[in-house]
Amino acid sequence: MKKPFRIDWADTSPSKHQPPTTHEPLKEYSIKFEKIPKGKKAVPDPGKLGVRSKLGGNPDWVQHPEVPMCSDCKQPMTFVAQLDSIEHDEKHNPHAIDCLSRQQQYMFGDVGMIYVFMCFSCMTTESLVQSG
Ligand SMILES: [Zn+2]
Repeated sequence: MKKPFRIDWADTSPSKHQPPTTHEPLKEYSIKFEKIPKGKKAVPDPGKLGVRSKLGGNPDWVQHPEVPMCSDCKQPMTFVAQLDSIEHDEKHNPHAIDCLSRQQQYMFGDVGMIYVFMCFSCMTTESLVQSG
């Protein structure tokens, strides 16, 4: 049963979401990997928010391209993964959590995405987040 929505005017947080406020571990999800045949895309519809997580290929940028440069060798880093806001509250999303329940943990800003990059020469990684 959904709770009635009330605006808390004293709440000055930038988002209506309730991100974890402690360093407690987030709830666990397992990930199933599936090889994508050549010519197909792991994310056929980047408009389907919440189900855009993937490994490899090219990043599906929420905003503008932002490939980081390796801080050691100064070369562009290789895209490894993108992790979507997997609890985004929409019917097409099997892991959707009611956005008013304050139970969402995997909501990176406004249905944002975390991108992971690696420099395989220097064995360094970098991640960044873009929000809608
Ligand atoms: Zn490097």
